[in-house]
Amino acid sequence: MTTTIDFLSHLNPSQRQAVEHYCGPLLVVAGAGSGKTRALTYRIANLILKHRVDPENILAVTFTNKAAREMKERIQKLFAEQLAMKEHGQRFDLLTEYEQTKLRSQVWRTYIKDLWCGTFHSLFSRILRFDIEKYQDEKGRRWNRNFSIFDESDAQSLVKEIVTKQLNLDDKKFEPRSVRYAISNAKNQGFSPQEFEREQPNYRGRVIADVYSRYQDKLAENNALDFDDLILIPTKLFQQNEQVLGYWHRKFRHILVDEYQDTNRTQYDLIRLLVTNGEDRKSEWEWQNRSVFVVGDADQSIYSFRMADFTILLEFQNDFGDGLPDEDTRTMVKLEENYRSCENILQAANELIENNTQRIDKVLKPTRGAGEQIYCHKADDELEEADFVIRQIRTLEHQNPEVNWGSFAILYRTNAQSRPFEELLVKNQIPYTVVGGIKFYDRKEIKDVIAYLRAIANPADTVSLLRVINTPRRGIGKATIDNLINAAQQLGTTLWEIISDETSVNTLAGRSAKAVNNFAAMISNYQEQIANLPVSELLMGLLEESSYVQDLQNQGTDEAEDRIQNVQELYNATLQFQEENEDVSLTAFLQSAALSSDLDNLKEGQTAVSLMTLHASKGLEFPVVFLVGLEQGLFPNYRSMNDPAALEEERRLCYVGITRAQERLYLSFARERRLYGSREPALRSQFLDELPEELLTTKSKILQVYTKIPATSNGKQNTTQNWQVGDKVLHKTFGIGEITHVFGSGNKISVAIKFSSLGQKIIDPRVAQLQKI
Ligand code: ATP
Ligand code: MG
Repeated sequence: MTTTIDFLSHLNPSQRQAVEHYCGPLLVVAGAGSGKTRALTYRIANLILKHRVDPENILAVTFTNKAAREMKERIQKLFAEQLAMKEHGQRFDLLTEYEQTKLRSQVWRTYIKDLWCGTFHSLFSRILRFDIEKYQDEKGRRWNRNFSIFDESDAQSLVKEIVTKQLNLDDKKFEPRSVRYAISNAKNQGFSPQEFEREQPNYRGRVIADVYSRYQDKLAENNALDFDDLILIPTKLFQQNEQVLGYWHRKFRHILVDEYQDTNRTQYDLIRLLVTNGEDRKSEWEWQNRSVFVVGDADQSIYSFRMADFTILLEFQNDFGDGLPDEDTRTMVKLEENYRSCENILQAANELIENNTQRIDKVLKPTRGAGEQIYCHKADDELEEADFVIRQIRTLEHQNPEVNWGSFAILYRTNAQSRPFEELLVKNQIPYTVVGGIKFYDRKEIKDVIAYLRAIANPADTVSLLRVINTPRRGIGKATIDNLINAAQQLGTTLWEIISDETSVNTLAGRSAKAVNNFAAMISNYQEQIANLPVSELLMGLLEESSYVQDLQNQGTDEAEDRIQNVQELYNATLQFQEENEDVSLTAFLQSAALSSDLDNLKEGQTAVSLMTLHASKGLEFPVVFLVGLEQGLFPNYRSMNDPAALEEERRLCYVGITRAQERLYLSFARERRLYGSREPALRSQFLDELPEELLTTKSKILQVYTKIPATSNGKQNTTQNWQVGDKVLHKTFGIGEITHVFGSGNKISVAIKFSSLGQKIIDPRVAQLQKI
């Protein structure tokens, strides 16, 4: 393989310095879009290609699994390019498909396969598959390498079982979710059950400590680990066993971490152990063939609620720079050019973040043109906001051949905000994905509540009945339910016929008979009222009577809060449905909800609009970004309104959102928003006022063009214009050009135009307002 590393020419001098850094610690700090992730990726390639580092000696930590996949793909591409030059003397993209495939698989076999690249959880569970048998906890418990990983819901079921079955306690008082949350916090702070009890020497503290201790027993009995263990056990194992640590320390000579500002203490401990082999300091000599390379931006630290701590980033040089002369220049590189966003977007982001006091000032210079102004839209309400966004997306997609659905992202503060957007996207048949989350109608709480409504509308729907019969828990156990199902099967009737008959229930349901009867009475009561009650009221009554929301409130966790917001959003959906439809029956509502969730899964290679929370958008970029719901109390979130530190974190989140945009940024807020069912006036977010006025506009050129297109999905307008090859035309944005091809006709016409400055573009002439000249 050639040693001239061509891809280094894709980098600026500071990036190059970072990428060519070979050994020792290095911190790359820089603002958003300055090529930190690119530098990290290229550095891996450089280590392997130039310094001949074996890929298996590299550990690269990314923030999401998706980011890990993308990083591997990019490295594969860089390698394939190098190989193409060497083996064929040609650029990779000019090779035949066969040659490209061959090179790719060669790259995979030789390099990528052995590279350890992934999230903290995925990487360290892999380490445990090798070494967990050498670990024993303080009570002598052991695991074997086939351990299962219990996700959050498994972990909570375990807690529930302990609370209700082993300790015979009321799980309303000791709600499994909040007990699990307390245990998780204790574990992450390194508290054993005894230490936890010492910290909280009251009744609740004692009980939780007891549950915690039994929970650990149960995990061990099941040969299982929870998510916290995947980080904590390797840490303890490394501290316990010098040989194990020594092995991984020698193996991972080069450690790289992306998004270092969102690392928490336990994750940091792991990295530090691996780098230093548990010693206090490293001498210069010891750094001779190893490195730790971290990249981050303290202004993008947005996970403090998961214990992330950006002082870890600020401390990096002290931590690892020990024993090295001339700390600053040798252990830190700053990147100061932003390659992602047009200047206006960047300037807005920079000015916004300057309002934070807890930060270190840094430079971020634009490398791209000014671009368009940032469009700020004041919507009447949340529905009009969604309508505005979807119309913009449709227009831009119609008008610009280089734009596809994947060019767009809609970013919001809370999950519940996705519903109006999702519904309109479905109506317009625009493919979309919810990144890092679940589509609204697929969320557990929405499925639960819809199941209640279905069971009421259609008592024969046993699947729905079973979903809700003990949700929230009302003491109807599995054995009872099996009895009831059995009886229904034997008699050839529906489950509902059995449970709605008191005598049968009394015979079959044993101790749970009362609970089953109450449940049946509630359902049949609503069945009788279907005709008189609007869906919204029926839903409201049901949520209360079933204690569904109450149950969530008792849990008191952030996740439960999120679920409550989603259920409230479903209530908003019923109100909206009633306003918009003639047939407002329960069945009609259920049908519309079913259709709202009915979107084919994305086909391979299909592009889609991305919807996600601001938290999930970290590290990503999109040509067009819509940042929606910029209202006081929503974003910034109401919990941060009286808490300066929390407000600064909200501002960092806004900074993250703005800096996702490459070409175009839309900010929107509504004058009023339906919250908890009633329309509340809303105030525009203070973040909007912190942006420089001259960068914002309220007039969208695009929208003016769009008004000529009807808003239906097949609504391209016919035109009588007859386009021919050779016609000279004037395009509003691209200027003068000449038609080189005409594809299709009538409704399906498009034309290829050669513009003198821009080259060839394919355009829909009816949308683009093309004029013959
Ligand atoms: P974030 O803080 O959002 O994670 P980042 O600093 O990791 O951003 P990257 O995602 O690596 O930034 O880069 C942003 C964009 O700039 C990418 O599209 C990347 O390909 C491009 N880019 C990075 N460096 C250069 C360069 N030297 N020349 C041209 N484009 C570059
Ligand atoms: Mg990045």
